[in-house]
Amino acid sequence: MELKICVVGCGMIGREHIERIQNRIRGAQVVAVCDVVADNVKKGAEIAGAGVATYSDFNEAINDANVNAVLVTTPGQFHKGPVLAAIKAGKPVFCEKPLANEAADCKEVVDAEIASGKHLVQVGFMRRYDRGYRQVKELLDSGKFGAPMVVKCTHRADGVAESYTTAMAVTDTAIHEIDVLPWLINDQWDEVQCIMPKRSAKAHEGLQDPQVMIMKTKSGIVTVLEVNVNCGFGYDINCEVVCENGVVNLPCPSFPTVRYANNISTKIEDNWILRFIDSYDVEIQDWVDHAAKGETAGSSAWDGYVASITADALVKSQTSGTFEKVVTGETPDFYKK
Ligand code: NAP
Repeated sequence: MELKICVVGCGMIGREHIERIQNRIRGAQVVAVCDVVADNVKKGAEIAGAGVATYSDFNEAINDANVNAVLVTTPGQFHKGPVLAAIKAGKPVFCEKPLANEAADCKEVVDAEIASGKHLVQVGFMRRYDRGYRQVKELLDSGKFGAPMVVKCTHRADGVAESYTTAMAVTDTAIHEIDVLPWLINDQWDEVQCIMPKRSAKAHEGLQDPQVMIMKTKSGIVTVLEVNVNCGFGYDINCEVVCENGVVNLPCPSFPTVRYANNISTKIEDNWILRFIDSYDVEIQDWVDHAAKGETAGSSAWDGYVASITADALVKSQTSGTFEKVVTGETPDFYKK
C-alpha cells in the first residue's frame, strides 16, 4: 500500500519532512498539508507540489478520504489532538517527539491505541535510527563486551534562544538520551537526579546551564549525562558505554583530520539537523515501510509515555536535588515485543 500522508504542522521540521517524503522516501507521498498559520500551509503546499490539499483544521485534514496516514509536526502541546484523531480514523500516525508535553496526555494516547486494538503510533525519536547508535547497540547486543555498567554522555549545543528554559534542558534536550539509552542497553529507568554545577557565564538570565543528570536503571547501570547548551563550539554528542570486558564509544561524524599551524584538528558538527540528517531519512522510510504493512517500528506510544514520566522526574529533581523515582507501571502486554 502506498502511504498518502497528511502533514499536520508545516513549521520548521514539518517542511523538512514534506521535502524528505516527496524527494527521498519510497512508497509514500504527501497529499495534504495542514497548519493553523496560513503562510505555513502555503509554504508546506509549495514544497509538496501540485495537487496537494490544504487545511487549517486537523480533523478535516485527517479525515480526508484520500489520506491514509498522518504525520504530526505541531509543537508538543498540540500533538495529542491530531494523534487521537488519527487513531480514531484508524490511520497510522508518526508523531514528532515528544508524544505530548504532559504524561497524562501521553497516557490518553496509549489508552486510545490499546482500545483501538491496532498498532498505529510511532514517536519521532530519531536517534534509534542513527547509524552510530545502531552500531553501538549491535556491539553491546553481541554480548562480547559483557554487561554494561556505566554510560557517560554529553549533549552539548552551541547556544540556545532566550526562550529556552531550565526545564527544557530535560524536556527538549535530554529527552533524546532518555529515550535512546534504555533501548541501547536493554534496560529501564529506575531513578534519576539532576545536579546543577557552576553556571556558565554564557547562559542567558534565568537559565541554569550546564546541568548534570544521573540516571540509574533497574539493573543498576548508572548514566552520567552532561547537558551543556551554551558550549559555543558546536553540536557535540558523545556516548561511552563501559562494560565488564571493554568500552564501546559512539562514533562521531567523520570529518578530515587537519594538520595545520602546529595543531591536529577535526571539525565538530554545527547543529542537530546536520548531525542527525541521515537518521531522519532512515526513520521516516522505516515508518512508511511498517505502516504500509499495518505495523509500527521505532519508539512506540508507550515509549513516548515512559520518556515523559522520566522527564517529569528529572524536572522535579531540578528543584529537589535528590533522586526521584521513575514510576510508569508495568508495560502493557500490547507493547511487549
Ligand atoms: P514550529 O516551527 O513551531 O512549527 C509548528 C507549526 O504547527 C506552526 O506553524 C504552528 O502554528 C502549527 N500548529 C500549531 N497548532 C496546530 C494545529 N492544531 N493544527 C495545525 N497546525 C498547528 O515547530 P517545529 O520546530 O517544526 O517542531 C515541531 C515538533 O517537532 C515539536 O514537537 C518538536 O519538538 C519536534 N522536533 C523534533 C526534532 C527531532 O530531533 N526529532 C527536531 C525539531 C523539532 P503556531 O506557530 O501558531 O503554533
